[in-house]
Amino acid sequence: MTTIGVIGGGQLGRMLALAGIPLGFRFVFLDPSKEACARHLGEHICAAYDDIDALNKLAQHCDIITFEFENAPAESVAHVSALRPAFPRANALQTARDRLNEKNLFQQLGIPTPVFANIESQTDLDNAVKTIGLPAVLKTRTLGYDGKGQKVLRNNTDVVNAFNELGNVPCLLEGFINFNGEVSLIAARNKNGETAFYPLVHNEHRDGILRYSAPSENHPQQALAEDYALRVMQAIDYVGVMAFEFFEVENGLIANEIAPRVHNSGHWSIEGAQCSQFENHLRAITGLPLGSTAVCEHSVMLNLIGSIPAGAEILTIDGAHLHDYDKAFVPGRKVGHLTLRHANKTQLAASVAAAQTLIGSS
Ligand code: AMP
Repeated sequence: MTTIGVIGGGQLGRMLALAGIPLGFRFVFLDPSKEACARHLGEHICAAYDDIDALNKLAQHCDIITFEFENAPAESVAHVSALRPAFPRANALQTARDRLNEKNLFQQLGIPTPVFANIESQTDLDNAVKTIGLPAVLKTRTLGYDGKGQKVLRNNTDVVNAFNELGNVPCLLEGFINFNGEVSLIAARNKNGETAFYPLVHNEHRDGILRYSAPSENHPQQALAEDYALRVMQAIDYVGVMAFEFFEVENGLIANEIAPRVHNSGHWSIEGAQCSQFENHLRAITGLPLGSTAVCEHSVMLNLIGSIPAGAEILTIDGAHLHDYDKAFVPGRKVGHLTLRHANKTQLAASVAAAQTLIGSS
């Protein structure tokens, strides 16, 4: 029996356990929240991410450690990595948690990015705006998520106090990309260097939060996205599932960011692929062969933000699979998702429309 320690006990940890329990894995979660929604699926060590006693306990109870949360302190990652095999490795977390490291890596590997500048003061920002121009996007280098920690600068008035408004912390200024769409690639690489790629996923956000994801069919940039992902994963000897977010432009793809973990835009794969991103992450880190990423029928994932419609009506929608994360309803919070899967695209579209009506625009 292999026990997997997960740093973070949110919905990603919960879905890792839901995929891993049938394979015979046990789970232990380290999460400072008493309400961590993965807690019912394994042991819960309720302590801060930098609590050394808790990290020791996690290592003692587990055979392998993984992360559903890339912002665990670097010292904590180093500590557990010295005690137990931990994947993804610390170098991947260091790269992905800082937008500057991430963009520098993309550049070294010849992967296109928006033009960018490191910003450590308002003066840096004023100077960078002169070269990058407006509109541009100012983003905190670390700890940003769901559109938090960033600001679109459209005119000089937006620039005046922007560094202060984002908290006087190191930032990146990026040129604004007029993209045609946003896509992500969920990729897996195991300890033997074998890789697997899901189809590019088309994503739609509102208010900085992902709302809609759908795997594409024969996307013209699939091979290019896989090539970029492979360059990154090989460069850092990555083990696990990684998500790559891209902007689609006329002549290709521009890399936005990577997440060294399972990702919201891959949740459709639970019902929509032969082997889900969660199972493939567990297979990758435990040295098992990767599972097939082939799709099953057609699917769409809708996030449930802030609340889940009351009553059973949502379950009567043809092809609907509800995932309730067992989290308190808070406006703007991801509390569940719905995957709609159907053999017939017209019927899938009807199910998506029915679900969107029930979900509303929360
Ligand atoms: P991020 O946190 O970097 O994923 O950004 C959140 C969202 O902001 C993205 O999904 C895009 O919709 C938008 N965005 C981020 N960076 C840029 C950019 N350089 N140009 C245009 N839109 C952007």
